[in-house]
Amino acid sequence: MNRTENILRRSKLTQEEIVYLLGLQGEEKTLLFEHSARIKEEAVGKRVYFRGLIEFSNICMKNCLYCGIRHDNAAINRYSLQEEEIFAAARFAFENNYGSLVLQSGEVETGNFTRQVEKVLRGINRITGGKLRITLSCGEQDKATYQRWHDCGAHRYLLRIESSNPALYEKLHPRDEFHRFRRRLDCLYSLQEIGYQVGTGVMIGLPFQTVEDLAGDLQFMQQFDIDMVGMGPYLEHAHTPLYAHRDQLLPREERFQLALKMIAVLRILMKDINIAATTAMQAIDKLGREKAIKVGANVIMPNITPGKYRDDYLLYQNKPCTDENAEDCKTCIEARIALADNEIAYGEWGDSAHFTKKGQGTRDKGRSGRSWQTA
Ligand code: SAH
Ligand code: SF4
Repeated sequence: MNRTENILRRSKLTQEEIVYLLGLQGEEKTLLFEHSARIKEEAVGKRVYFRGLIEFSNICMKNCLYCGIRHDNAAINRYSLQEEEIFAAARFAFENNYGSLVLQSGEVETGNFTRQVEKVLRGINRITGGKLRITLSCGEQDKATYQRWHDCGAHRYLLRIESSNPALYEKLHPRDEFHRFRRRLDCLYSLQEIGYQVGTGVMIGLPFQTVEDLAGDLQFMQQFDIDMVGMGPYLEHAHTPLYAHRDQLLPREERFQLALKMIAVLRILMKDINIAATTAMQAIDKLGREKAIKVGANVIMPNITPGKYRDDYLLYQNKPCTDENAEDCKTCIEARIALADNEIAYGEWGDSAHFTKKGQGTRDKGRSGRSWQTA
């Protein structure tokens, strides 16, 4: 048995072993992908859950150095969807049996924003009789705000750690009090303590990032006992400060392959979590999301944001599907999932099996041991 086969027999891996897997090429890489596909099938089946994605506002108070909708980028139109537009999109998801919604926005920490989100959550629950699971992705907020949104019916939250290496995190963000690694981590703990299904993730192929950093990211997800993960390649945007470091980037195809390997290894490490096939995968490879599904992803987020706003929610350039509407996305993704020899789990919430098995989330004693050290 060679080293790859030997490592693939186990699910507890050292950082060095993860680095080894992330470096595989050729036939050895195929072995990894076949193995992760088998594990996915055994643990969560060949089924893909839909979450209708509503990018409801691109107004952001932050200035993450990689992001196209950062506050200081004056070259975009800022928008915030009207409540009725959000409700119409939610109705589309409901009528098309999507099971879940993701409401995503830039980060705004104000009482007004908190109340607006509350109203939207209540409205969606009223319209759909509480039958859609709602995920929020609105950045860092205080614990009381997260609690209020949870009380209004949001039961999942996505907050990517972006990088679990504090030194790298600092290089990707302005060095001020609004962009602290420690705060991001505390937010993740708060979400867990409240009882959300918690999702995190990282960008792959960032300038300054090493393969050891990426292995550390996977170990972070495991130690944090995360329920859901969305991760994809970093994609440069000309109107951001990080663009100045584009000469350090891996070629796009290599970033994509690294992202596929990250998904495959994560599926081996955390067999029953939900892993998204992200849009950024498709920005590099036309079949990117299908490939992600084949090697381990089991969630896809068809965009249901009204078409006219999509060009203004460009976190990165060359984002696919901005000229489409919700119906186009649905038809296209259905075909793609069939191509990946998986089926769509229509009408199901698709909660993270990992979360469900843990019982009532963090209310279980000892779950959130705050084991992750930042030092
Ligand atoms: N404001 C919220 C949610 C919107 S941003 C937040 O920051 O959590 C959602 C995700 O987009 C971020 O977490 C980041 O990982 C990703 N993103 C931003 N800029 C990107 C880029 N240039 N390439 C790839 N992903 C990017
Ligand atoms: Fe704002 Fe999120 Fe972009 Fe950071 S990543 S600038 S918080 S939208």
